[in-house]
Amino acid sequence: MQHMPDVQPFKEKLLALKKELTERVAAIDKDIRHEGMSHDWEEQASERENDEVLESLGNASERELAMINFALQRIEQGEYFTCSVCGDEIPPARLELLPYTTLCVDCAEKRENQQ
Ligand SMILES: [Zn+2]
Repeated sequence: MQHMPDVQPFKEKLLALKKELTERVAAIDKDIRHEGMSHDWEEQASERENDEVLESLGNASERELAMINFALQRIEQGEYFTCSVCGDEIPPARLELLPYTTLCVDCAEKRENQQ
């Protein structure tokens, strides 16, 4: 039987990241709704310009959050260290850098070259 690295530290890291991102997304949502903002028209106009920036930030965070949730799902299914393309083991050192990657180095490189 193949020895699998301990998944627990990765799980804790992902859960911490998830918490951080969930809070960030909530804070961005709150900014977009302008809770407690002034009713000064000029100020509101510049706030609206910020909305687009905030929204793209929010989208990036939500995408990241989805990837974290997917990684946690893979942990539950015992697939965290398995490349989703070729089935090889993803080295733990790679997962320490990219805790929600689903690809081994080879497959990630192949995918990058396709773009
Ligand atoms: Zn692979």
